[in-house]
Amino acid sequence: MLRKNNDSLIAYFSMEIGLTPQIPTYSGGLGVLAGDTVKTAADLKLPFVAITLLTKRGYFEQAIDSEGNQIEYPSNFEPHTMMKLLDVTTYVLIEGKKVYIRPWLYEVKSQTGGIVPVLYLDTDFDLNSHKDREITHYLYGGDSEYRLKQEIILGIGGVRILKEMNLRIWRYHMNEGHSALLTIELLNDNKRSIEEVWDENLVWDPDAVKQLCVFTTHTPVAAGHDRFDYSLVSRLLREDYIPMHVLQRFAGKENCNMTFLAMNLSEYINGVAKKHGEVSRKMFPGYEISAITNGVHSYTWVCPEMAKVYDKYIPGWANEPELFVRVETIPDEEIKNARKEAKKALFDMVFQKTGVRFDLDILTIGFARRATAYKRPHLLFYDLERLIKIGEGKIQIIYGGKAHPHDYEGKKMIKRIFELAKYLKDKIKIVYLPNYNMEIAQRLVSGVDVWLNTPQRPLEASGTSGMKAAHNGVINFSVLDGWWIEGYIEGVTGWSIGKHHSGDDFNIDSTPGDAEDLYNKLEHEIIPTYYNDKQKWCFMTKNSISKIAYYFNTHRMMRRYVTEAYLA
Ligand SMILES: *Cc1c(COP(=O)(O)O)cnc(C)c1O
Repeated sequence: MLRKNNDSLIAYFSMEIGLTPQIPTYSGGLGVLAGDTVKTAADLKLPFVAITLLTKRGYFEQAIDSEGNQIEYPSNFEPHTMMKLLDVTTYVLIEGKKVYIRPWLYEVKSQTGGIVPVLYLDTDFDLNSHKDREITHYLYGGDSEYRLKQEIILGIGGVRILKEMNLRIWRYHMNEGHSALLTIELLNDNKRSIEEVWDENLVWDPDAVKQLCVFTTHTPVAAGHDRFDYSLVSRLLREDYIPMHVLQRFAGKENCNMTFLAMNLSEYINGVAKKHGEVSRKMFPGYEISAITNGVHSYTWVCPEMAKVYDKYIPGWANEPELFVRVETIPDEEIKNARKEAKKALFDMVFQKTGVRFDLDILTIGFARRATAYKRPHLLFYDLERLIKIGEGKIQIIYGGKAHPHDYEGKKMIKRIFELAKYLKDKIKIVYLPNYNMEIAQRLVSGVDVWLNTPQRPLEASGTSGMKAAHNGVINFSVLDGWWIEGYIEGVTGWSIGKHHSGDDFNIDSTPGDAEDLYNKLEHEIIPTYYNDKQKWCFMTKNSISKIAYYFNTHRMMRRYVTEAYLA
């Protein structure tokens, strides 16, 4: 039905989309997942259109000064260098005033011939006041008023642009709650006349909207969900769209909760890993919440060195990642050589960016992601004496990651790691790579030996960087949370840290036990295997590819969205 009716599209809304390092309109996991989703839709030739904001000043670019302080400066992206300005405009009302929107088009073209248009909504042009022109400048910048304005542009403006372009939409997929205001526009589009229903409350038909909407939640903590005070909401939206009491019916009485708005108006709701589905069902009783575990776009995240080997032995892997099941047909030597080349390429980059020379023969651990408290980047340093005893001369570590400009805890963590790197420099080589982005991520997840992840359970909804690592034969060493609960087979596909807690474990401080387990595994399993049992190391490398990359890719993920969410 979907295939035949090619003029009816799935509209995928995301506050951030990370497609290439050149377009800085992403901050981390959520945006990169959105980018991988769009690329896969193109590979699979799905009838798809993506809508996001042209935040051309980006999230921010990160420098780190000689004391370890994060310095932030805006990205400088010129859309005309990579995108085409479309000849359509629309507007939304904010505080009763028109704010005009125009879309830039970027086409994602797959090797299969599939093409997915991505629309970047822009308010920075001469029809708007100086202040309104800034609405689409900064990703996650500004205060809650700025954010709500962005969400009006994305949600309501996005639907209006699609209408302006005469595109027929089969499903609206909200990637996180930032775009939930699109439901308001759809409520109005599907309004029934008062003569028909005789009751003002029945004029807005939630069922008609629900049939059109799919919602993916990404955050397992209540505080992480987007909310706004109704004083702000009614000041910006007035009653220009729907009456406030109708909005409150769907978005909550206390404050305007975008997760509730999206959930109450979507037929299909999902979390991004099995565990996250479970946690979400507990957090939101009464809602039917499914789970589709995330993946990564194989072709994007396999480094050139490994891609060459895959091309030779399992041609077609990029559009059929199931072929990774046949990794056993690749001779060990070829994998080992490609791994070594990838490691060397990473070390060249590290040297160029930090002036520190890493040793090719030493076990190298990588850790890079958003610098924030729950990710616990400092877990490795919980007991410094013990780390030195275990790791001196035997390990080296590469860190990376940005802290949100308002996340002072996250910034302190960067500074602390920076200081530890200085303190330990004669015993354990450590660098903090500045400005972690997709480009650096690709080298990092493919060039280290072990990819470490130490989140506080159960706060990692899914996580995806470990899947990228596995695609390159890098072995995961992670806390049992998010996707890793599904991916790990101890000593076969990687190593776990700590126990697998079931039930409500929000308040358990697992840090001491996790640190203990981390040191034990490092000392008794990982270091001895790396230095003394090359054969087992290669066995685990291959299993990372054949058992993790085989499954945790966006091709599998998108096929599930199609059959379970879009065509259901
Ligand atoms: C994949 C990716 C992330 C997500 O990392 P997690 O460890 O899953 O949180 C963040 N930032 C960038 C640049 C990435 O490529």
